[in-house]
Amino acid sequence: MTRARLSGITVVVTTLFVVFAAWLGGDWGGPRTLGVVSDVGSVAAGGFAVTSAAVAARASRGRQRRAWAALTVAALGWLFGDVVWAFQELVLKVDAAPFPSASDAGYLMFPVAACVALMLLPIGSAGLSQTRLVLDGIIVAASLFVIIWANGLNDVFTVNRDSLFAFALSVAYPISDVILLTVALLMLTRARTGQRAVMSVFCLAIALMLVSDGAFALLRARDAYASGNVIDVGWTAGLLLLGLASLIGLRSNDIEFGLARAPSRASLWIIYLPLPAATVYMVISPASTPLLVAALVLVFGVLARQFIVADENRSLLVAVAEQAFRDPLTGLANRALFLDRLTHATAMQIRDGRTVSVLSIDLDDFKLVNDSLGHPAGDALLVDAAERIGTCVAAGDTVARLGGDEFAVLVEDGATAPLVIGDRLVDVFDAPFVVDGHEVHVRPSIGVASRAPGDVVDDGPESLLKHADLAMYSAKRSQHGGVHAYTADMHLIDVSEVDPPRDREAKAKRYGSAGLQLFAQLRRAIDEAELTLVYQPKFDVATGRLAGVEALVRWEHPERGLLLPDDFLPLARQNGLMGALTEAVMRRAVDDAGAWRARGVDIPFAVNLFPPSLGDLELPDRIAGILADGGLNTECLTVEITEDFLVGNIRRAREVLVHMRRLGIRIAIDDFGSGYSALSYLRDLPIDELKLDREFIAPILDDERAEAIVRAVIDLTHRLGMICVAEGVENAATAARLATYGCDLVQGYHCGPPVEAAQVPDIRPLLPAGVVVPGRRG
Ligand code: C2E
Ligand code: CA
Ligand code: CA
Repeated sequence: MTRARLSGITVVVTTLFVVFAAWLGGDWGGPRTLGVVSDVGSVAAGGFAVTSAAVAARASRGRQRRAWAALTVAALGWLFGDVVWAFQELVLKVDAAPFPSASDAGYLMFPVAACVALMLLPIGSAGLSQTRLVLDGIIVAASLFVIIWANGLNDVFTVNRDSLFAFALSVAYPISDVILLTVALLMLTRARTGQRAVMSVFCLAIALMLVSDGAFALLRARDAYASGNVIDVGWTAGLLLLGLASLIGLRSNDIEFGLARAPSRASLWIIYLPLPAATVYMVISPASTPLLVAALVLVFGVLARQFIVADENRSLLVAVAEQAFRDPLTGLANRALFLDRLTHATAMQIRDGRTVSVLSIDLDDFKLVNDSLGHPAGDALLVDAAERIGTCVAAGDTVARLGGDEFAVLVEDGATAPLVIGDRLVDVFDAPFVVDGHEVHVRPSIGVASRAPGDVVDDGPESLLKHADLAMYSAKRSQHGGVHAYTADMHLIDVSEVDPPRDREAKAKRYGSAGLQLFAQLRRAIDEAELTLVYQPKFDVATGRLAGVEALVRWEHPERGLLLPDDFLPLARQNGLMGALTEAVMRRAVDDAGAWRARGVDIPFAVNLFPPSLGDLELPDRIAGILADGGLNTECLTVEITEDFLVGNIRRAREVLVHMRRLGIRIAIDDFGSGYSALSYLRDLPIDELKLDREFIAPILDDERAEAIVRAVIDLTHRLGMICVAEGVENAATAARLATYGCDLVQGYHCGPPVEAAQVPDIRPLLPAGVVVPGRRG
C-alpha cells in the first residue's frame, strides 16, 4: 500500500463519514430516515473494516497474519450484528430492533476476537506475558465498573430488575471495551516507532466505541435508544478507524517486531489508579450480586497478576544471572565463568588428584573475514567455530569465548590428553567455513598448558591460562598454527610482534572481499600442492660450473594466470600461511631434486625462508624430515633468509640457525645490503653464504663507491669463511668485473633466468667470466 493510496482512501472515508455524522447530528429527516441512514452507514463501515483487515492479513505472514485474521473475524462479527439489526429494522420493519437479539451474538464476538488479535500482534511484547496485559485490562474494567456502579448504575439496575439479562449484556459492551482499550494503551506505551501509528489509531477506535457502548447502556436502561441516535456515530467512526489501522499496519508491514521498548514507569502504576477508589466503594456500597462479582474479579485478577509478575521477575533474574556468565553471541561461557571454573578446578585438584589443563585457541585468519565480509559474517563464523570446538570436548569440559576470536577450553576430567583434544580441534577446522556464500579457511593456533596435582603452585590459577596463551602465541608465530604445549622458554616470546594490528588493517584495505577469495584459493593451492617452482641457476664465476639452483615459487592461478611471488606472498604472509607455504615449497623442491637425481645429477638447491619462521624451534627438524622423506642429504639444501629477520627475536633465530647448521643445512643471507645490515649478526650467526643485493651489483661498472662496497663485502665474506654470491647480474661485463673482485658465485638474468624443474639437468655451464656467448640473454 503506497502512502498516496492510503491518503486517498483516508480522504474518501473521512468525507463520507462527515456527511454521515452531520446527517445524524443534524437530525435530518424523520426517525425512519435517520434509522435507514444509520443502518446503511453502519453496515458500510463494518464492510470497510472487514475488507481492510482481510487485505492486511493476506499481505502479511506468520504471527502478524494471524493477528490481522483475528481482527477480520472481529469486524465480521460486528458486521454480522449490524446486518441482522438492519434486516430487522428495514426488512422486517420492526419498529425498534429488539434487544437482546441475534445481532448481539455478532457484536459480542467483536471484543473477544479483537482481544485475540491484540495478543497475537507482537507489538510491545518484550518476552513478557500477553495474559498479564489482559489481566491489566480486566482489573481496570472491574475497578471502573465498581466506581460507576456506586455512582448511579446501581439505581438503573434496580429499575431494570425484570430484564436482568438485557442489562448485563448492555453493560458487557463498555466493560469489554475498557479491557480492550487498556490492553491497547499498554501496548502503545511499549510500541516502537514503526508500530505506534497502528496502535494509536486502534486505541482511538476502541475509545470511540467505548463512548458509544457506554451511552447505549445508559439509554437502554431508560429504554431511550433508537437507531439513528447520534451515538451511532461513535461505532461507525470506530469501525472506520479499525479499517484504517489495518491499512496502516499493511503499509508498515515490515516493521520488525523485535525487542520492545522498556515499559514506561507510568504504565506500571496506571492500572492501579482506579483501584483504591473501587476498594472504598466496594466497602461502603450496599451489597449486591454485580458488586460481589466485580469484587471477586478484582481480587482474583490482582492476585493472578501479582503471581504472573513475580514469575516474570524470577525468569528475568534467572536470565540476567545466566547472561552474566554467558557470551551472548555463541552461548558459551564467558571469561568470568571460565576463570571461576578454573579457580574451582585448581582448588579441587589436590583432593581429586587430577590434572587440570587449559587450551587457548585463537583463529588465525578471523580478522580478515571480519574486515572484508563484515561483522555479521564474522559473527556467523564465530558461532560455527564455537560449535565445532564443542564437538571436540567431553561433556564435563568448559568451552569459553574469552573475546573476539579467542576461545579457551578447560579440561578437568583428564580422561583425554589435552594434546589429543588440540589435535582434534585442528582437524575440525580443516573443513572450510561457508559464510555469505564464501568458502573461508580458518585455522586455529592452539596452546596447551597443564598442571598436575603435584606441581608446585606459586601463582594463581590464572597463570595456567596465561601459559596456554603463551603456547598459543608460539603456535601462531611458527606460522604453522597447530598445537603447541607450554614450555618455560616461551616467556621469551614478544607477544606484540605476533599479531601486529597495523598489518591487519592494511591487508584488509588491500585485498577486500576479492582478497578473501584469493586467500581461500591460495590456501587450497598450498594444501593441494598446486604451487610450482622455477629454478634459477647460480654459477661459479671462476669455472663457469653450475653451483646450484634457487627455487622460486610460482602460482598458476586458474583465472588470473601465472602469479609471481609478489602477487601472493604478502597475502600468505599476513594470514599466517607462510609456514604451510614454505613446507609445500620444500616438499616440491625435494621431489624435483629427486627427479634430477634419477636423471643422474645431484644439484644442490636453495629455498627461501620466511624470516619470522626462524622463531619456530621445530622448523629445522621438520625440514630435515622432509629431506629424509625424499631420500636426500641435508647438505644439498641451502636456506635463504633475508636479513630483516633481525627485527624479530634474534635469540630464537640464532638457536634455530645453529640447529639447522648442526643438521648440515647451509645458510645464506639474502638481499644483503638492502635492509639495515648489521655486522653483528655476521659475527654471531652461523652463515655460509652472503648474497649481495642486486641494488649494489647493478651500478658497479660506473659507480666507484658501489664498487668499493662490493669489493669490501667480498673481502669480508672471505675473511669470515663465507662465500659471496652476486645477485641480479644482468650483463657479461658485470660478471667479468665480479670475477676480477674474486666474487664466488653469480646469479642473474645474464647467467641464467629461472627455468622449469624439468630443464634444470640441462643447464649448461656458464662460460668463464668475460667470455660472452652470442644469443645468451643479457
Ligand atoms: P629473491 O630471493 O631475491 O629472488 C630473486 C628474484 O630476483 C626472483 O624474482 C628472480 O626472478 C629475480 N631475478 C633473478 N635474476 C634477476 C636479474 O638479473 N635482474 C632482476 N631485476 N631480477 C632478477 P621472483 O621469482 O619474483 O621472486 C621475488 C622474491 O620472492 C624473491 O626474491 C624471494 O624473496 C621471494 N620468494 C620467491 N620464492 C619464494 C619462496 O618459495 N619462499 C619465500 N619465502 N620467498 C620466496
Ligand atoms: Ca632468495
Ligand atoms: Ca635475493
